[in-house]
Amino acid sequence: MDVVVIGANCGGSIAAGDLAAAGANVILVERDVTRKKPCGGAIPPKAMSEFGIPRSIIERKVTRAAVIGPSGVTVEMDVRGTVPREDDYIIMLKREVLDRTLRDKAQDAGAQLREAAFVSHDEQSGGKVRTKIRYRDGREEYLTSDVLIGADGAGSLVAKSAGRKPVRHASAIQERIELPDDAMAYYENRAELYLGDDISPDFYGWVFPKADHVAVGTGCRPEHANRSYAFLEGVKARAGIKLRGARRILLEGHPLPMHRNKKLVFGRTLLVGDAGGMVAHTSGEGIYFSLAAGRMAARAVGGLFGFGEKLEAYEKAWQKRYGSMFDFLEFLERAAYTSNFKREWFTDMCRVNTVQRLTFDSYLFKDMATVKPFDHVNLAYEGAVNAVVNWWLAPRKPLCEAPPQITAKEALLATRAAVNAGVGVEEAV
Ligand SMILES: Cc1cc2nc3c(=O)[nH]c(=O)nc-3n(C[C@H](O)[C@H](O)[C@H](O)COP(=O)(O)OP(=O)(O)OC[C@H]3O[C@@H](n4cnc5c(N)ncnc54)[C@H](O)[C@@H]3O)c2cc1C
Repeated sequence: MDVVVIGANCGGSIAAGDLAAAGANVILVERDVTRKKPCGGAIPPKAMSEFGIPRSIIERKVTRAAVIGPSGVTVEMDVRGTVPREDDYIIMLKREVLDRTLRDKAQDAGAQLREAAFVSHDEQSGGKVRTKIRYRDGREEYLTSDVLIGADGAGSLVAKSAGRKPVRHASAIQERIELPDDAMAYYENRAELYLGDDISPDFYGWVFPKADHVAVGTGCRPEHANRSYAFLEGVKARAGIKLRGARRILLEGHPLPMHRNKKLVFGRTLLVGDAGGMVAHTSGEGIYFSLAAGRMAARAVGGLFGFGEKLEAYEKAWQKRYGSMFDFLEFLERAAYTSNFKREWFTDMCRVNTVQRLTFDSYLFKDMATVKPFDHVNLAYEGAVNAVVNWWLAPRKPLCEAPPQITAKEALLATRAAVNAGVGVEEAV
């Protein structure tokens, strides 16, 4: 069996490695093996054991998470599920290290890596797929395979070539910031999530610690993208003194899928990870889902040849396993993030033990946590009380206003000015 996989990060490398280990001839095509994927790099410990990722690449273990509402009200939480376990923490990684590790594993399993860009593909009579790739020197090559897997991220060219309609993407922006030792010590095992119109009208801003820096970022829907840099400034302003002595080492940005594809199989082409829109709406989390999808896609391809199953088994398996979780997270995003009132309410709800328990059970184990009848009653009661308090009894004022609307040209100039003012910038968005 011959398989071509486009994109050698999370989803692509897992699919390629699994298929090569099962005896397939796999060509893994990546347009730039040196690229650092802009990413917060937060993953649940479950990913390490499930996908054989060495623990040596862990940069930090976050055991404490703070949610900071628009008014500055802060809720501190221990990262802990219903039944406390030793590995109740959020793992922080550098994406370039994770991607290199996964790519090496795929090659060790027998996948052949080609550093080239996918151009287009077509399905030929006889069930073969012909894929055109282009090397840096302009040389072109056609690869023939039984199946093509598109794991080429948000804005996937494979999806476009397979006939998927254009989808909208959010934009996410992040700075890697070095801090003096005493400021860094504060973020030793702590992550922060900021909410407010000044941070993002749609999502949240984050401060995630790595071994030698913190990653500070935010994301927003395309209609707000002109103000991306202003929102990032908003996160830094709110973190304030905690980022004293900050030195920017990298400014990076990337589209983030915000449209989940229910159709993941187009003839003999499968979409995996960001290419298939597999990013959780409330958190922007996509690494685990991309890894999981890569494995599911590999199984479906193996099933096609071993047992004559249909590739659509992949689409069904994905929907069955994660469909309802994504539906719930999309609902939660609308319920919690879309106005300052809702964000204050959400922050208060984070104080509720049931909310913390269910959140971390779901995050750590990647399953919809079981909600018992008492939990329903407790959530309904706390939800109503917090709504009345925030709406009527003691509404809190936001600390900062939303940045003003600006044109794309003004946004470009503002971002350029900010970039030029930065120290040691390696890459601009
Ligand atoms: C700023 C930001 C912060 C984030 N933070 C987190 C986080 O903390 N935790 C989390 O779980 N998720 C996070 N995400 C989401 C996460 O980064 C993605 O969901 C994840 O990278 C998806 O992996 P993937 O393998 O599907 O795609 P990608 O990682 O995007 O990989 C796609 C690969 O395909 C290659 N490629 C693209 N086009 C071509 C082509 N034409 N030919 C050949 N190769 C090609 C690319 O070079 C790339 O290597 C974040 C995203 C952003 C933008």
